[in-house]
Amino acid sequence: MYDHKAVEKEILDFWEKKEIYEKVKKSRLKGEDYYFCDGPPYATGQIHPGTGWNKCAKDAICRFWRGRGRNVRVQPGFDTHGLPIEVKVERELKIKNKREIEKYGIDKFIEECKQFATKYIGVMGDQFKSLGVWMDWDNPYITYKDSYIESSWETIAKAHSRELLTEGVYVLPYCSRCETTMANYELEYGEETDPSIFVKYRIMDRDNEFLLVWTTTPWTITANMAVMAHPNLPYVRVKVGDEVWILAKDRLDYIMELTGETATVLDEFIGKKLQGVQYEHPFQHIIEKEADRKVILSDEYVTLEEGTGLVHCAPGHGPEDFLMGKRFGIEAFCPVDMRGRYTPEAGELEGKPVRAANPEIIAILKEMGLLLYESRIKHRYPHCWRCKNPLIFLTTKQWFIEVSKLKEKMQEETEKTAWQPDFARNRFRDFVRDAPDWCISRQRYWGIPLPIWKCENCEEMKVISSKKELGDVKELHRPYIDEKELKCKKCGGKMKRVPDVLDVWFDSGNAVWASLDKKEKERYGQADCILEGQDQIRGWFYSLLGSGMIKNGQSPYKRVIMHGFFVDEKGEKMSKSVGNFVPVEDILEKYGADSFRLWGLSNTIWDEQKFNWVSLREAHGALDILYNMHIYLSRFYPKEKIKDAELEKEDRWLLSRLNNTRKTFNSSFGAYEISNATKALRHFLVEDLSKFYMKIAKDRVSGGRNKEGALFAIYSSVLGVAKMLSVVSPFLPEHVYQKFFRKHEGEETISLYPLAEIREGEIDPALEKQFENVREIAPALLELRQENKVKLRWPLSEAYIQSDSQDVVKSVEGLSGILRKLVNVKEVSAGTASPKFASGEFQDGKVFLNCELSESLYEEAITNEIVRRVQMLRKKLGLVESNRVAVQMDLEDEFRAIVEKNRKDIMKDTNSKYLEFSELEADKDAKSWEVDGRIVRIKAEKA
Ligand SMILES: [Zn+2]
Ligand SMILES: [Zn+2]
Repeated sequence: MYDHKAVEKEILDFWEKKEIYEKVKKSRLKGEDYYFCDGPPYATGQIHPGTGWNKCAKDAICRFWRGRGRNVRVQPGFDTHGLPIEVKVERELKIKNKREIEKYGIDKFIEECKQFATKYIGVMGDQFKSLGVWMDWDNPYITYKDSYIESSWETIAKAHSRELLTEGVYVLPYCSRCETTMANYELEYGEETDPSIFVKYRIMDRDNEFLLVWTTTPWTITANMAVMAHPNLPYVRVKVGDEVWILAKDRLDYIMELTGETATVLDEFIGKKLQGVQYEHPFQHIIEKEADRKVILSDEYVTLEEGTGLVHCAPGHGPEDFLMGKRFGIEAFCPVDMRGRYTPEAGELEGKPVRAANPEIIAILKEMGLLLYESRIKHRYPHCWRCKNPLIFLTTKQWFIEVSKLKEKMQEETEKTAWQPDFARNRFRDFVRDAPDWCISRQRYWGIPLPIWKCENCEEMKVISSKKELGDVKELHRPYIDEKELKCKKCGGKMKRVPDVLDVWFDSGNAVWASLDKKEKERYGQADCILEGQDQIRGWFYSLLGSGMIKNGQSPYKRVIMHGFFVDEKGEKMSKSVGNFVPVEDILEKYGADSFRLWGLSNTIWDEQKFNWVSLREAHGALDILYNMHIYLSRFYPKEKIKDAELEKEDRWLLSRLNNTRKTFNSSFGAYEISNATKALRHFLVEDLSKFYMKIAKDRVSGGRNKEGALFAIYSSVLGVAKMLSVVSPFLPEHVYQKFFRKHEGEETISLYPLAEIREGEIDPALEKQFENVREIAPALLELRQENKVKLRWPLSEAYIQSDSQDVVKSVEGLSGILRKLVNVKEVSAGTASPKFASGEFQDGKVFLNCELSESLYEEAITNEIVRRVQMLRKKLGLVESNRVAVQMDLEDEFRAIVEKNRKDIMKDTNSKYLEFSELEADKDAKSWEVDGRIVRIKAEKA
């Protein structure tokens, strides 16, 4: 294994010292613009290997386009606001809630948040650099900078001028610990055990007649305002004891089994008939809220999968209920305050935290005789993504951007965008279709302040979009900005800022332009490409589109690449608490950044990235080949560059394969099929060059038969591989270039070469086809050797290939020399053979092999075995080719005779000065082996 740690360190130093990234960037200034927008990770800690891998994929894309001559802009970003950081700082300060933050001081608190983020920007930047990521590390975009905040404000101001900014009442997920609303995309679902109750709602003006409903949130019954029925499904009225119940027909058996009752069906009818049926609130004596509570119809929200087919509707506590309420003009009654406790409107329940009040609610229902059945249920329930508290749905007053007004245009833009893979578009389309208006306000501290000022007298409102408009202010954060008061133009009254901050997704949603300076804003309309994980369908892909629509009326990106989740071997999420987490440092230590990158980019990007060490080792093995090839060239390549050479068939084949690989690499990478490009490159390096070509050509280089041609082909191929590979795994190719190629090639770094060089004239499809045939025949013959236990080192006399395909026959005739070498057989020809020979099959015919060893073949075999043993000893002594050795052998007579006979050849092949026979003691100085059943002892010393 090559020393990746030394290589990567050496190259990092070289890049830094010689400012290589800057030089490469400069060399492409005249090229066509390519704007890659880096999605900013949260600056909250050491990077996850998945974050590292994400960055490496981005880097490879940028390196590729630089190689294609484009002028690439790629500025790394860091997301620095919001709850992720507030919660971490709260923990560090041992603070538990908002009151304690305010006691501590908002100014001190946000300073802590800023310091926390700044620290991790440094830590993460260094980690990304050590992965070989080339971005503008000296100039990252940071969301807490004033210039970034101003850019985001401009978007809000634009929303206001386009009449998309509104304040309104809405039902949203709410964390009663963090005391802020959450957006749907911030929810984290986990298992929760809750009551599951069936309740009877008494129908007005009927005798003992009830609607049956089911709920897992008893505390919301206080806010019940309606019951929903499906208009087109059958319902029944049934008699149970002295009561009459109404429920969906298909749920009757289930309910009867649950309660152990028997029912007599009185009536069957379609749900529509229930419309307008009035009922009493189950605890009318507690909830004084007057309302006309009745059955409404919905074919969307009523299903028969669970419950009774009649659905309890509390518009103040559920988004779907809220929509229904709006549609039917029902008030969103919400007797719960911002700390998650009942208000006086909930009567005697006042002051109780709602979820904790469930048992009391159930007790009340029981006492009223309205509880039909009670059990517990384990179900998926939304939690706060940061503090893990179970969320409740509350009606609050918030600021919105009315995305619904833009939806049609957003969908058009979605269709115009290039999506990789295509199914990402479908998922995104669905998400955009169903997305509600964007609630952008959060009741927190560390974030972009909402730039809205309101008049205390007349409610006049003003949206600010720059620092200049505010005059002197320390920084654009709370609490400094809260102190800024403006004068109302309308009435001269005092205007105060709305105290909220922006949803942190709004920050990153502005990344495409907020990171640009003034001139750049004119230059780059859209990002050419963004690349993130599949969770960003609901996240960044969406917030970017939303912000882009508001700001410029178009999507801010032309292309999206969506990658899969980065998971462990078994497909489980990697996390420190589970113990399956692999720190980036461990990966760098064990196999290095290059192997990590080569492994990662060989996988289909939208699949799950299942981390495992074995695949990483395989990638390292492929890189080892490149490393060894440059050592090989350093040894055998002449001082002067070979400009031209006469080429053998195998050389022409190798160059043909090289150019075809270049073609595939460029076209696949250009189409963002990165794994196809990477796999084609690996195949050429491992299979074509190392495993196949070198087997044939090695002897030519050491033996001197048209050595030039082979070295020419090897040089071109290794350099070609290094150039392409420097896109994927940049360290080793640079090392190989610096150590060997640079003196012949001239440029200061391998990254300055364009990835353009495809020599069409060197591509020979017919020749490639012939070699393909040979590569099918050879394994069939090798299998016969194995079956007959004749080692490959032992030469055999003849083999025949029988095939109906003229193509195959021609290949055998044309490339018999290569076949002979591959299978170590003296004569290989097309035709049939004696039935005595061993025979086997390949795709296009049959192969025959004479497995008998004649006396002379046996001699040759034994000679080969002896030579090989001496070579092993030479290697052990650490000798180079020019060193000579003195060899002593202790052999049985038959072998001794063979060696005597071939003494000259053996001495030449092993570069021996002396070769003598003497009695040797085993295990002392001499090494012994068993060869074809006989003991062979050899001793070698430097002569
Ligand atoms: Zn929370
Ligand atoms: Zn006013």
